[in-house]
Amino acid sequence: MDLSSPLRRPDKLSDIVENGMCMGCGLCQAIAGKESIEFVTTPDGRVRPVETRPLAADDWALVQLTCPGINVAGVDEHRRDEGAEVDMIWGPYHKIFLGYASDPDIRFRSASGGVLTALAKYLLESGQASFILQVQASASRPMRSDTVKSHSGRDVIHSAGSRYGPTTPLDCIFEALDSGQKFAFVGKPCDIMALRLYAKEDPRVDDQCIAMLALICGGGPEFYKSRDLVEELGYTENDVSLMRYRGYGNPGRARVETRDGKAFEKTYQELWEDESKWCSQPRCRICPDGIGESADIVSGDYWPGCNPTGEDAGFNSIMVRSNTGMEIFESAVAAGVLTIDQSLTIDDMSDTQPHQVRKKEALWARLLGMQTAGHLIPKVNGMRSMETARAQSFSDNLASARGARKRTRNGRFSESPVTDVEKAKP
Ligand SMILES: Cc1cc2nc3c(=O)[nH]c(=O)nc-3n(C[C@H](O)[C@H](O)[C@H](O)COP(=O)(O)OP(=O)(O)OC[C@H]3O[C@@H](n4cnc5c(N)ncnc54)[C@H](O)[C@@H]3O)c2cc1C
Ligand code: SF4
Ligand code: SF4
Repeated sequence: MDLSSPLRRPDKLSDIVENGMCMGCGLCQAIAGKESIEFVTTPDGRVRPVETRPLAADDWALVQLTCPGINVAGVDEHRRDEGAEVDMIWGPYHKIFLGYASDPDIRFRSASGGVLTALAKYLLESGQASFILQVQASASRPMRSDTVKSHSGRDVIHSAGSRYGPTTPLDCIFEALDSGQKFAFVGKPCDIMALRLYAKEDPRVDDQCIAMLALICGGGPEFYKSRDLVEELGYTENDVSLMRYRGYGNPGRARVETRDGKAFEKTYQELWEDESKWCSQPRCRICPDGIGESADIVSGDYWPGCNPTGEDAGFNSIMVRSNTGMEIFESAVAAGVLTIDQSLTIDDMSDTQPHQVRKKEALWARLLGMQTAGHLIPKVNGMRSMETARAQSFSDNLASARGARKRTRNGRFSESPVTDVEKAKP
């Protein structure tokens, strides 16, 4: 990305975490093993990996290469070779559509239009994938999420909806690869990035993972978002029997059910109206890719101007980014799994995701500001960040860089260390 001085690199896992560059994808634990890395809840309410035994040198070297918190690599050239367009903000794509799951039940239950659930179910039921690697609400602790291998359409539907809390979908990647079976992966853009980076080191990923499907992501909230919501209602985590953040309508309501038989709901607006309660992770604030550039297919919300004005039947913007994605998308439409309403343009994407556009525009300058303050930043390659910065005014870039430098110095991109692993276990 051509930042002037050499990039600072982490010396150990805790450097990544304490510099706020981890978003908890789980890959490092898969690489080093549960005996060496445990996930804990930090004093800031984030679910983070902690080294409980020194990492083997090979494992640490692999983490340094593949951790998506500190590495972000674009796929523009590869996708151009496939005939994709590359937009400066939105990256590579073949086609963009507005659509939804044809199955009305999937459409209703899912986060927005059910496109990811319908595609995952289709890949399974058409025999292309033996299972779907994805996350879903934990059965025993519904405020948390588990990584699962879904083997049936029913399992996939059970995973529908957004989990606005920590998820570690890469923690089971070896289990998936060791199975020797074909599978599809559903996750956030940073999870997909982790898998793409790891694919460079382990050829089994490209052999076995037949599709990478992403949701557009504006930021993964820390656990305290859910904890505060439940505590406001006068309950604790142990009292909760169901935690749904949206879905059952579009956007649907957040719903908390408690073991004493009570149920509470909040509208989407009530859940998100107060930005000071978003509980976004530091890494998310400067995320170089919340739009899933390296996924095969990306599914997002479609609300003109970005905010829902009421409930609707459920729609998704769908960016088909790769040849693999095109093949899956076209066959899923032909099979009647997805219903396509209309084609969309890049302008439609920008109109419905203005926060993603702003992040891309400010990325280069913000990273420069953080680097100037001596902070660890992700190594970003092939994401057009400098080209995008050049298209902004000098004063906007300066303001972004200064703002990020100030926030860095104020500790906004730093996280507290975990001192007592036993106490911090989730
Ligand atoms: C943290 C977060 C931030 C988001 N920010 C935006 C945004 O800025 N703009 C936007 O358009 N949409 C955003 N959404 C996405 C939106 O909520 C929908 O998930 C998306 O539009 C896909 O809709 P769908 O109906 O196809 O999904 P569904 O058919 O309901 O499928 C959702 C799939 O995503 C998986 N999933 C859900 N939550 C997570 C998670 N935290 N980590 C990994 N996998 C998960 C589920 O396992 C399921 O497979 C966000 C979602 C999340 C979870
Ligand atoms: S981003 Fe993922 S790989 Fe990197 S430190 Fe965090 S959990 Fe580990
Ligand atoms: S904003 Fe970026 S880093 Fe944060 S959860 Fe979303 S994709 Fe991951």
